Amino acid sequence: MFIADMHCDALSKMIQSGNLTFGTSSSAAVHAGTLQAGGIHLQNFAVFANPKKSWKKQRQEVWDQMKLFHKKVLASPTIQTTASHLPEKLPSHTQALLSLEGGGMFADDLNAWEDLKRNGIVMASLTWNEKNSLAAGSSHSNKHGLTQAGKRVIAWMNKNDIILDAAHLNEKSFWEALNVSNRMVVSHANVKGIYNHPRNLSDNQLTALVDKNSFIGLTFYPFFMNGTSEADYADLARQIEYLGKKGVWHIAGFGSDFDGIDHTVKGLTNPSDFPRLIEWLLKRFDEDIVKGICGENFRRFWNKKNISNEA
Ligand SMILES: [Zn+2]
Repeated sequence: MFIADMHCDALSKMIQSGNLTFGTSSSAAVHAGTLQAGGIHLQNFAVFANPKKSWKKQRQEVWDQMKLFHKKVLASPTIQTTASHLPEKLPSHTQALLSLEGGGMFADDLNAWEDLKRNGIVMASLTWNEKNSLAAGSSHSNKHGLTQAGKRVIAWMNKNDIILDAAHLNEKSFWEALNVSNRMVVSHANVKGIYNHPRNLSDNQLTALVDKNSFIGLTFYPFFMNGTSEADYADLARQIEYLGKKGVWHIAGFGSDFDGIDHTVKGLTNPSDFPRLIEWLLKRFDEDIVKGICGENFRRFWNKKNISNEA
């Protein structure tokens, strides 16, 4: 079964901890060993710099993490860059994707964005939770949304086949971005219908993402699942059941947020736990649904270019 995880923060975790190894002695939850043990076929690695730091410092951190991705992650014998078309045959290596979480430090400096693309970034979000010169994030009121500079960056992304990640946008920014983006996903979030949190998606947002042939990665953060620091597989199953009721199964997947979360779901602490989760899910959902959510839905999204043109 093709297994894909659309969000982890291993790169920033490695920098923070000062332990730059990507093998089994890594202090990150996501590393070559756990990916291999979990049989993960595709892993998205986010580059993240805290927006409270100066722009200069943030830009430096972004470059440091991108370097780490090339020098450590892609240098592992079990990892390779994601193919532009993912065939049905299961890949022998873990395919790695590189994305930017929060692009405020680059504003609408399109030369800098070109540099990011040259260095392998294939997906980016405009904000983390903050409001910046591009958009307002999920911790801000809906008085603010996407800015003109944000629209310029999305237009550039459309032209350059860079996927827009709408995770962390507030609702106003989300709707405005949806109008102008050709290829938008929400890489790591859960649903407001179960727990009403600004980082989670409303029913209207779910419907709009289905209409846009988008992709939604369910995150494994207990707080977004149920508002507490503890959750188990049943909490994740509730998210999946809810997506089924709303007709969202065919565009759903996982965006674990491993290494970006301070609490984990019981029995789901790193990629090596995926097989156990999948076995559990197969007892509760049809095999096709589980296959879709584990990775097939993302594979289909990835292989289709210019999603909105086909909607
Ligand atoms: Zn995040």
